[in-house]
Amino acid sequence: MGIAAEDIERVRAATDLVAVVGEHVALRRSGSRWVGLCPFHTERTPSFSVNAELGFYYCFGCQRKGDAITFVRETRQLDFVGAMESLAARAGMELRWDNQRESGDRRRRSRLVETMARAVGWYHERLLASPDAAEARGYLRSRGFDGEVVRRFQLGWAPEGWDTLCRALSLPADVARDTGLGFVNARNRLQDSFRARVLFPIFDARGEPVAMGGRVLPGADGPKYKNSSASALYDKGEVLYGLNWAKGAVVEHGEVVVCEGYTDVIGFVSAGVAQTVATCGTALTERHVATLRRFAPRIVLAFDADGAGQAAAERIYGWERRHEVDVFVAALPRGVKDPADLARSDPEALRTAVSAAMPLLSFRLERLLASASLSSVEARARVAAAAGDLIAEHPNQIVREEYAGQVALRLDVRPEHLLHGQGRIRPSPGGSRPTPARRRRLETASLLALGLAVHQPEAVAHLLHEVLFLDPVELEAYRVLTRAQTLHEAVEAASPEAGELLLRLAVEEVADADAGAVVGRLLDEATSRVLAQMEADARASVGPLEDLQAIGWLKLLVEDLRDDTTRAAAAELLLPFLAERAVHEARS
Ligand SMILES: [Zn+2]
Repeated sequence: MGIAAEDIERVRAATDLVAVVGEHVALRRSGSRWVGLCPFHTERTPSFSVNAELGFYYCFGCQRKGDAITFVRETRQLDFVGAMESLAARAGMELRWDNQRESGDRRRRSRLVETMARAVGWYHERLLASPDAAEARGYLRSRGFDGEVVRRFQLGWAPEGWDTLCRALSLPADVARDTGLGFVNARNRLQDSFRARVLFPIFDARGEPVAMGGRVLPGADGPKYKNSSASALYDKGEVLYGLNWAKGAVVEHGEVVVCEGYTDVIGFVSAGVAQTVATCGTALTERHVATLRRFAPRIVLAFDADGAGQAAAERIYGWERRHEVDVFVAALPRGVKDPADLARSDPEALRTAVSAAMPLLSFRLERLLASASLSSVEARARVAAAAGDLIAEHPNQIVREEYAGQVALRLDVRPEHLLHGQGRIRPSPGGSRPTPARRRRLETASLLALGLAVHQPEAVAHLLHEVLFLDPVELEAYRVLTRAQTLHEAVEAASPEAGELLLRLAVEEVADADAGAVVGRLLDEATSRVLAQMEADARASVGPLEDLQAIGWLKLLVEDLRDDTTRAAAAELLLPFLAERAVHEARS
């Protein structure tokens, strides 16, 4: 990342996570932890836990987790470097960069952004004043984009010439290429990427210009829209047009309207719907959703009527579950292909479409019911079957039953008829929505032992071994933990599942657990598994003869494990036995 690794550790060590979190939500002490209402999801009973000593937080409701750096990144919409700078400033520290190249990368980025900013300004001036932009100005006026809109969105005009911009800005070839503003053509000459197009500059969420969207004038040749290709600055799967301007309104409304194009954004904003963004010539991605979720919990899709109806339900339900976001659909009046036109002719209709937006399932059912004939029993049965199919796609049973009830009433059929499709629901990746606010106790011996390994490593290190962990995620968590110097290192080395488990354990209460008893239970389980295997082998006469003796010996030791006074001695014998046997099994 460029920041010296030891600085990252120094900043972490100097940061009081409870104080950082405390600026967002009230925390109260509970044992060795601090708890409060989660800043990432809405809840009434606290399920957000902070372990001050280890510097980790975990939410039992939404499973958000991390350390001070992730917390600052997520709550303040900063990148890693930004979060580090903020925490370092808070701790009164100065960051050092770990080598020339990395800080060079940041200098390079600022140079590219600076070049983009100059290009945005140059194209904009060109649109405002240049004689060759007269046709473009006329076109924009005809679309209702007056001087105020042109200035507000910093629209520009790319002239006809082959290399007007590159020459005017004296762009070196590598800068032209890395900003996507120009390229070296087949005759080895530097050429402008955008020619004879109205330009919509695209900014990232922080307001830095990163790309261009270009539209041809009506009647001109070439594709209607041309966008910057991916560059060092621009990732279209992540950037949303207009988010830089809309941010404040999005947070204020708790909602973001997503439409399809640059002119749609301008139309919505002009109609008074300031919380509007657009994807840049791509479908909405999960990364877009994750970005938007940082600003608002409600996403309203404002595609044209057909586009919205065809939105992939399965993907959207998945986003809703994984990102705790509610996706709504704004029904634009039928036949409206261009919200920008509607913004001019009937801005009220645009505002109404947004305020009357419906959950996706509701939207699809309404469309079905509106277009269906309900005149005969047979027709109603067909509609009921189709509605049942739509309802069946929703992953939540309560939601399914609620909609089935509503639709059944309107079709005059029994709700059971609309719940027919339940058996066909495919399990979606990511599991079910977490039960809110309920703290799961560490119920198994292996989880308790792992918890102890996180909190009191010195007390259990010599008592534990990989063979005691059966569950693959728990085993991995134990492995990374024993190999790492710190919990941070372990979490970074772990798979997402094992990392999540470690962070959850970091905020669990294990202080009252008796290490000896926990390890005893774990050894008991592991030995019993081995015993069962040995006995089965003995019955089938495939095990070695000495196993018969060993079975008797093990049974006595298990007895000892269950007695407080003999447990430690039995454990000392059993652990090496199990470890050796595991090595032997692995070899044979
Ligand atoms: Zn939460």
